[in-house]
Amino acid sequence: MSKIGVFICHCGENISATVDCERVAQELAKVEGVECAIDYKYMCSDPGQTIIKDAIREHHLDGVVVGACSPRMHEPTFRRACAEAGLNPYLCEIANLREHCSWVHEKGDATTNKAIDLVKMLVEKVKRNKPLESIKVPITKKALVIGGGIAGIQASLDIANAGHQVILVEKDPSIGGHMSQLSETFPTLDCSQCILTPRMVEVAQHPNITLYTYAELESLEGFIGNFTAKIRLKAKSVDYKKCTGCGACMQKCPQKKIPSEFNAGLGTRTAIYVPFPQAVPNKPVIDREHCNYYKRGKCKLCETACPTGAIEWDKEDEILTEQVGAIVVTTGFNVKGTDFFPEYGYGKYKDVITGLQFERLASASGPTFGEIRRPSDGTIPKKIVFIACAGSRDPAKGIPYCSKICCMYTAKHAMLYQHKVHDGESTVFYMDIRAGGKNYEEFVRRAIEEDHVNYVRGRVARVYEKDGKLIVKGVDTLLSGEQVEIEADMVVLATAGVANCGAEVLAQKMHISYDPYHFFAEAHPKLKPVETNTAGIFLAGACQAPKDIPETVGMASGAAVKVAGLFSNNELVREPLIAVVNRMPPPVFSTCVGCFMCQTACPYNAIEREEIKGRDGKVIKTVAKVNPGLCQGCGTCVAFCRSKSIDIQGYSNEQVFAEVMSLLNQ
Ligand SMILES: Cc1cc2nc3c(=O)[nH]c(=O)nc-3n(C[C@H](O)[C@H](O)[C@H](O)COP(=O)(O)OP(=O)(O)OC[C@H]3O[C@@H](n4cnc5c(N)ncnc54)[C@H](O)[C@@H]3O)c2cc1C
Ligand code: SF4
Ligand code: SF4
Repeated sequence: MSKIGVFICHCGENISATVDCERVAQELAKVEGVECAIDYKYMCSDPGQTIIKDAIREHHLDGVVVGACSPRMHEPTFRRACAEAGLNPYLCEIANLREHCSWVHEKGDATTNKAIDLVKMLVEKVKRNKPLESIKVPITKKALVIGGGIAGIQASLDIANAGHQVILVEKDPSIGGHMSQLSETFPTLDCSQCILTPRMVEVAQHPNITLYTYAELESLEGFIGNFTAKIRLKAKSVDYKKCTGCGACMQKCPQKKIPSEFNAGLGTRTAIYVPFPQAVPNKPVIDREHCNYYKRGKCKLCETACPTGAIEWDKEDEILTEQVGAIVVTTGFNVKGTDFFPEYGYGKYKDVITGLQFERLASASGPTFGEIRRPSDGTIPKKIVFIACAGSRDPAKGIPYCSKICCMYTAKHAMLYQHKVHDGESTVFYMDIRAGGKNYEEFVRRAIEEDHVNYVRGRVARVYEKDGKLIVKGVDTLLSGEQVEIEADMVVLATAGVANCGAEVLAQKMHISYDPYHFFAEAHPKLKPVETNTAGIFLAGACQAPKDIPETVGMASGAAVKVAGLFSNNELVREPLIAVVNRMPPPVFSTCVGCFMCQTACPYNAIEREEIKGRDGKVIKTVAKVNPGLCQGCGTCVAFCRSKSIDIQGYSNEQVFAEVMSLLNQ
């Protein structure tokens, strides 16, 4: 016979304003197996918890139901109180009388009756609860950071400075990401490379950071605290132990017209190349797709030029296996190209460029050494038009969201243009200006008031050429929709920030979710912005959504704190509310028939195979087994198991049926 204690909380007036809490307690006191039923104004308060603890000791309770707010709020509080009074915490259940009842119904008998039903259901469940022990999982105190932009750099440095080992994996030949391509940065207009390069160098020299460039995640297995990552080190064809970074090979390479990714296609590079002067590491890789030797079997001029014999023709990709306890994903974003805009003359007009290309023109390390010159003829444009929201906030283009950074970088571009071309005229077409950030609004005002940038509110319909000039045709919505045509020597499109190509494939490798636009999804938009729905995998920077640098850096440090917090423990304590496959005495061993439907269904790869062997060592049966570190307790496997061999601890079929029957039997 059970001895259940029922405790009904008024939650101030949150519950008691619509639910008659006293009547709930009185009705529950009549239920079979309920030893005591008490209502109180604030059950979560110290005196409230003392009521529960005293009742457990006095009545020797073997189960507790608290009718209160959402278990998300106070389940840990009440379970802790039970444990302090000597009751296994998993013999305590919370009936959600606030969110599920008082907040969503009017005051009245029906609301109180529903509250009584909710508590009764949990009384029936708790009668069938079994004492459970939390799961302890060891933690490997080494982190994997994927992506070496400013987010990955910041997260790696913060974790490494907290005393933990970090492996930083970057797919390109250098770390730096988009920030290394920027000229100056809003809202302070400080030189991007000047603030970024010291951090890139610090990463390379940090004793706790192992940097793998030209590398990608091949596969990921395991669970929080215990991941196994396979990393593909792409063949660089250059032995970095021998290479001194002298650059002799690059000078000799005859393949000189390959569009440079770093210069967003505006400059060129060789087949053996270092992407930019401040690259880390500052040693070349051979791009096999464009190398004469790999394409045609002839050339090897770089080998002849190399004074240290560093070229390795036969080098193959290597796969490394690393054990890590946590992962921070910082793979960033991309921007749409001008090919997305046939109406703006893509393919026809060389002088219609993207914002990223403008950054490269404005940058001292860019193809024009910082002078704003037209890609078509190298002349300095005297009239320039910037088009904000090119693709963003445009459902017709499939991108309804705001790319967030474009209003700001467009103002910056117009400002930089005016600073460099004193007699130039700049116009910005915008839908509305989103400058939400510290000193951002002031920055845009500066562009308008001090640098005399002409801001026109309206959408651009078309860009076409007339008499050798680009004509930007749009409407000025502030002049009651009047059509405007502005002549320009160059047009810069603030194209939408989008997820990286293949981001969804990476997400699938890591078992994390992504949104409809393939940005990685955070576990909760407000309360868990750096966590993913897979424990132990965190997010930072523009891989989650377009972001500016301050927000990216803040998020990276946030993710690093989560990792350091995890690593501050030797073991991870997890809730035992996970799936278990039943076990029985011989000769049955388990009702599991080994069909492994559960294995195909489990979204977390938590189902393993276990061989049951006889005394002679022969396999009698192969059955399913749940890896407690991986299982998230979602219950998908339970629904798939045809022999009903899997249950979720704390939510067994028996418990759920008992709850339902308590409703039906009245
Ligand atoms: C035109 C333009 C101008 C801007 N100007 C400013 C400005 O003035 N001020 C400001 O605050 N912000 C500015 N920004 C925004 C700024 O660029 C971003 O905030 C910042 O780059 C985000 O950093 P990140 O590390 O998240 O991503 P990224 O910079 O995109 O870095 C991601 C890194 O991950 C690597 N990677 C990608 N996939 C993988 C993979 N599968 N495996 C391993 N590595 C991978 C990439 O190669 C890259 O190195 C601007 C952006 C643009 C487009
Ligand atoms: S072998 Fe390839 S990388 Fe070397 S010089 Fe020739 S083209 Fe360039
Ligand atoms: S409960 Fe979910 S996570 Fe756990 S084994 Fe079953 S399907 Fe996998």
